[in-house]
Amino acid sequence: MQDYDVIVIGLGATGSQALYQLAKAGQRVLGIDRYTPPHIYGSSHGQSRIIRQAYYESPVYVPLVQEAYRLWQEQERLSNRTLFTQTGGLMLGAPDSILVKGSRRSAETHGLTYEYMNADTIHARFPVFHPTPDTVGVFEAAAGILFPEACIETALQLAQAHGAVCKLGEAVTSLTPQRNYVEVHTSNGTYTARQVIVSAGAWLDQLVPELALPLTVARQVVFWFDHAGGRLQSFHPDQFPIYIWETEDTMFYGFPDLGNGLKVAFHHYGQPADPDNLNRQVAPQEVSAIEGVIRKHFGVDPIFREAAVCMYTNTPDMDFIIDRHPLHNNVIIASPCSGHGFKFASATGKILTNMAMNQPTGFDLTPFTMDRFDAGRKRA
Ligand SMILES: Cc1cc2nc3c(=O)[nH]c(=O)nc-3n(C[C@H](O)[C@H](O)[C@H](O)COP(=O)(O)OP(=O)(O)OC[C@H]3O[C@@H](n4cnc5c(N)ncnc54)[C@H](O)[C@@H]3O)c2cc1C
Repeated sequence: MQDYDVIVIGLGATGSQALYQLAKAGQRVLGIDRYTPPHIYGSSHGQSRIIRQAYYESPVYVPLVQEAYRLWQEQERLSNRTLFTQTGGLMLGAPDSILVKGSRRSAETHGLTYEYMNADTIHARFPVFHPTPDTVGVFEAAAGILFPEACIETALQLAQAHGAVCKLGEAVTSLTPQRNYVEVHTSNGTYTARQVIVSAGAWLDQLVPELALPLTVARQVVFWFDHAGGRLQSFHPDQFPIYIWETEDTMFYGFPDLGNGLKVAFHHYGQPADPDNLNRQVAPQEVSAIEGVIRKHFGVDPIFREAAVCMYTNTPDMDFIIDRHPLHNNVIIASPCSGHGFKFASATGKILTNMAMNQPTGFDLTPFTMDRFDAGRKRA
């Protein structure tokens, strides 16, 4: 008899959801985290995350995000907390940009409702956007904002209410998979379980070094700004959607003013980083680079408030890893990041639960297997 049915390593966006779904399904489950989530040391802090359905990355993600919406709503009801607010979402770029073309493709493939706008319509509808004449937009009313800290806190509370055990402030140092169970060694001792889910975010690689996964951890900075003239009504969430904007030389995204200024950030372009030695200082040049973008595309004068440093854990193709360890069938690996994994976490947690319970997941997970990398293939 093992200590637990399943141990979840890492209780951030993904792990907290897996822990909840496993406990709800009646599994004896232990969750372990080196910190006390929600915290600021991984990939899930900073007050807001975009959720959208017209998924420019690939239509494959649409059924997954639709399931995620359903599960976030369910958790809102169960917890009586606000986890999501609908603002609409605008994807801006040239008609043939990756962002615009990809969003339309996903919307068309899955029959999603969207509006295709030219530059004049964009500016008339949302006067603070200053698009160039050749810019178009894909507007999706269903898009909005998830509140990551509240999502994680809620999932952990719901999990514990269903009997999950949490060990926080305890780091897993290594795993020893045996034929029918796995030993999980931590700074405090050893636990055993039938199956283990490794959802350690930027630290994943350290726990499965034998796979030599081609992951790159990138330092990402998010910024908050006021703007000269104070908090204009036009940046209020009722009137200003979340957006992603692809220009000739960059891609950036942002949120309406939720009461503490405009949050803006570049998508990708972060420097490679070590999660144990992340540079959390933000240089003046980093602030001025994003200030230039705000001046150019919104015609307002930004006043810097604060910044936060976070990490993307990128795969070479920017698709997730959700798969079993190629050598150890009782170890499940989840790396749903590449800078876009939060919105899916509720669905990912359910998928991981079904995998751990040897049940069908109901989703095509082929794009997320490890055998697409040499690392996985060599060892399988
Ligand atoms: C700046 C930024 C903006 C983003 N914007 C969006 C967005 O708008 N929409 C979106 O969908 N996604 C977005 N993402 C991506 C999304 O936030 C991530 O995909 C998601 O948070 C990753 O969750 P995770 O569970 O993999 O990692 P985390 O939430 O970081 O969780 C990993 C956990 O593992 C724990 N851990 C690590 N090692 C160990 C160990 N050895 N022992 C025990 N515990 C351990 C850590 O303490 C941590 O709590 C963004 C990411 C960043 C950084």
